[in-house]
Amino acid sequence: RAARNSEHVVRGYAPAMGQVFLRRFQLVTQFRHALDTGQVEVHYQPKVALPERSVVGAEALVRWSHPEYGRLDPDEFVPLVEATGLVDALTSFVMECALVKIRQWLDAGLRMSVAVNLSVRNLADEAFPDRVAEALERHDIPPELLTFELTESSVMADPERSLPVLRRLHAMGVVLAVDDFGTGYSSLAYLRQLPVDEVKIDKSFVLGMGTDLGDMAVVRSIVELGHSLHLAVVAEGVEDDAARDQLVEMGCDVAQGYLISRPLSEERFEAWLKARTKRGVGPRSETVLTL
Ligand code: C2E
Ligand code: MG
Ligand code: MG
Ligand code: MG
Repeated sequence: RAARNSEHVVRGYAPAMGQVFLRRFQLVTQFRHALDTGQVEVHYQPKVALPERSVVGAEALVRWSHPEYGRLDPDEFVPLVEATGLVDALTSFVMECALVKIRQWLDAGLRMSVAVNLSVRNLADEAFPDRVAEALERHDIPPELLTFELTESSVMADPERSLPVLRRLHAMGVVLAVDDFGTGYSSLAYLRQLPVDEVKIDKSFVLGMGTDLGDMAVVRSIVELGHSLHLAVVAEGVEDDAARDQLVEMGCDVAQGYLISRPLSEERFEAWLKARTKRGVGPRSETVLTL
């Protein structure tokens, strides 16, 4: 009986695993084509200043509309793409979209930044800062309007290679943010040594704040830690007014989350921005900010 069962398990298992591998194999081999044919797009999720709610910018989040599998979230395909050389093409694509967006806004008199997520491979690539400098120049973008988000674990994977890359990006004036802060090493001594300007509190703590005093304490200490190191503090995963009010009380600088908006296609982001501007809580105008 046992033998029959295990045979059954093995038979049921093999085709299922085959499908998983097939799907992964397809995603990896089709990604380049997907980039070239417009299946991959960048969505934008707004970031607003606290407490006054003006729009300071957006995070660029990649989406893949796959012809067979439908809308794929980055958590499924980015790790696969990261395992190949194709992540350079992904980052370049997202950065190009971001810079085009920033330039359009500047031409309309709006000063908003866009944050692009980097992968561990970009941080190990000593030629990456030159590509960034070239792209900023080509689009005539002030470097401080481009933010790169990186996780502690991606820096820690190979600090000897990633630190020089980060230092060069920082010296260029690009803003660097530690993403998902609180989930990795999160060592105070370590954060001090990173050439970064911003910490983003991981959404798991922000989401838990309403029901878990431990999460609340973590959020509060990250805000305090960030400020004592002269870093801007951003909370992601802000889903309700209670969380927002707490963050205001703690002195958190910027909020991002479903309360403000989900990530939006470029078109829908522009519509959102227009409606927001009508209500008097749009982006600050360029002239105000450059004073
Ligand atoms: P992340 O950089 O930490 O991005 C924040 C994620 O939280 C996004 O998921 C966003 O949609 C989600 N989020 C935002 N606000 C809320 C909220 O209020 N509640 C909840 N429950 N979730 C919220 P998304 O878009 O699925 O992206 C997942 C991850 O994929 C990102 O995490 C980032 O690590 C990675 N990723 C996305 N785009 C890129 C990219 O262009 N390049 C690279 N290398 N990674 C990317
Ligand atoms: Mg991010
Ligand atoms: Mg994050
Ligand atoms: Mg993440």
